Amino acid sequence: MSVDLCRTCGRGELEFTGGRLDTPTTRSVRPGPDGLYQVQPHHRWCPVYTGQTPEVGCPRCGAPVEGIDYRPGYQARVPAVGPDGRIRDDHVVGTLDGLHAELPATLVTAQPRPAPQFDKAYLALCGHTVEGADAQRVFRQVRDVADRRRREQAEATIERHAGLLSSAEAAGYGQLVLRYRQAVHCRSADAPGILTALRTVAG
Ligand SMILES: [Zn+2]
Ligand SMILES: [Zn+2]
Repeated sequence: MSVDLCRTCGRGELEFTGGRLDTPTTRSVRPGPDGLYQVQPHHRWCPVYTGQTPEVGCPRCGAPVEGIDYRPGYQARVPAVGPDGRIRDDHVVGTLDGLHAELPATLVTAQPRPAPQFDKAYLALCGHTVEGADAQRVFRQVRDVADRRRREQAEATIERHAGLLSSAEAAGYGQLVLRYRQAVHCRSADAPGILTALRTVAG
């Protein structure tokens, strides 16, 4: 067999612990023209190995995105010396912190302005960095998935008390039930108190 780098997760080596193979691998169905099976090592999260399409995938490699560090891009105007030896405006781009750290305040002739085409997102698990529209898209997807999970968790919490809520409604405490639902969805600290009140009136 021959070992081949995985182009998705970037893993290219087999690791052994105590003489046992400790790396997830996939193998070509048939031997290649050289008569060798091709073995591809993977990280445990690699979609090629798990066979699962992640909810949010890295635009570069398809790895599941489990963390994102989003840095909006900015552009600042700085004076520079042109080829003719005269001072002219030039532009530098970077994150706000980066620009302030890199450039002496006196050099920046205008406040840095947002420049979304230079937004950057650092992605975990694969460690790729994507920019501009790609970065914005992944950021939105990550946010949407998190919102959806929060909604689902809230619904599940409400569902666990479905019996209590319907008896409270039947007993004329519909307003209190509504407040409880809203509190759960907003993750308000009031939710447990309202639930206790509901138990008192309808439990
Ligand atoms: Zn892989
Ligand atoms: Zn990636």
